[in-house]
Amino acid sequence: MTATEHASLDVEAIREEFPILSRTIDDETPLIYLDNAATTQTPEPVIRAMNEFYHEYNANVHRGIHQLSMEASIEYEEAHDRLARFIGASDREEIVFTKNTTEAMNLVAQAWGRANLDADSAVVLTEMDHHASLVPFTQVAEWTGAEVRHIPVDETGHLDLERAAELVDDDVELLSIPHVSNTLGTVNPLGELADLAHEHDALILGDGAQAVPSRPVDVKALDVDFYAFSGHKMAGPTGIGVLYGRADLLESMPPFQFGGGMIERVTLDGATWADVPWKFEAGTPPIAEGIGLAAAADYLDSLGMEAIEAHEAWVTEYAHERLAERPDVTVVGPPVDEERGSLVSFTLDGVHPHDLSSILNETGVAVRAGDHCTQPLHDALDVSATTRASFYVYNTTAEVDALLEGLDVAKELFD
Ligand code: PLP
Repeated sequence: MTATEHASLDVEAIREEFPILSRTIDDETPLIYLDNAATTQTPEPVIRAMNEFYHEYNANVHRGIHQLSMEASIEYEEAHDRLARFIGASDREEIVFTKNTTEAMNLVAQAWGRANLDADSAVVLTEMDHHASLVPFTQVAEWTGAEVRHIPVDETGHLDLERAAELVDDDVELLSIPHVSNTLGTVNPLGELADLAHEHDALILGDGAQAVPSRPVDVKALDVDFYAFSGHKMAGPTGIGVLYGRADLLESMPPFQFGGGMIERVTLDGATWADVPWKFEAGTPPIAEGIGLAAAADYLDSLGMEAIEAHEAWVTEYAHERLAERPDVTVVGPPVDEERGSLVSFTLDGVHPHDLSSILNETGVAVRAGDHCTQPLHDALDVSATTRASFYVYNTTAEVDALLEGLDVAKELFD
């Protein structure tokens, strides 16, 4: 059975919507794009929505009384509503547009962290966190004197939940947890960890960068307090991300950045703040990108998030099985029969991931090689780098076969 026969998505029709997929590498080799965990490609409806903004109503938001500004303001504000619906948030007041996941996490670390952490408190991170979580929280801990604790990862690529229960005590103010690991593919039990956090009156921040693009996410059902994700990993544009925050929390937090757009009234001595979410969106915001992201949410919903999840699980499982059956490949993360996000990271004996990635590039296959912004996790795995193949709505098992053929080419060259 091929991925198209698997039938949760009409992959051929989907591929038509992504113009970039018909380009070639070196003028003749078709592109096989397997670097979706880094950035996904952009479909026509998203490109169209952004073009429409620039063709028809490009203007700044919230500050003009003229027609274009009013139209842009309405579309930009409604984009917040659209994203709220996409992840099950109450309304636009819980949706802050940021530059990306990294900025959303910095917003929590700095605005919430500086106001709520001190030398008697602790934050709990994990050994599999992306640097976007590790670095901002380690920094804010240095500034405030708070302790940082880390939930370890066991040999099957899962968080050690027994250890987590020991690490989370009444001193802990916040847990920051990747919903899906961008290196291991592990799907972490975010709801369970939210319960653990709340038993100790702590908050939980979910890093949804690898979850929102590929599975239905409902922040209320997960009972998370904050949740962060990026537009460019979910068929949307670069330059935009989202921080979901519980309305009462966002209300109570000080601003993150200061300037125009986030104030209510300014005097020479001080200022008062605009309502949420605008209090957290200083300066001219990512207007075209916000409108593009709302179009991406429409696009993904038109395919159906359950169908997307099923398709990607099918392609990922196929890739995992084919890679794991090779004696010269070591796959990291959960075993084949377990749920994982839409990616497989691995090492190939005798070929450094950077060399492999560059040989694959010559065969048209784009993958990511390196530490994937998880250096402490790679330290724990005792490897300096892995190769990561990651899948999206337009990938097929035939493309996985091309990846495997590329591995053979690399082996021949290096043997
Ligand atoms: N968190 C995870 C799990 C990721 O995979 C990434 C990106 O690779 C990020 C955070 C950071 O995303 P961005 O670079 O869009 O801020």
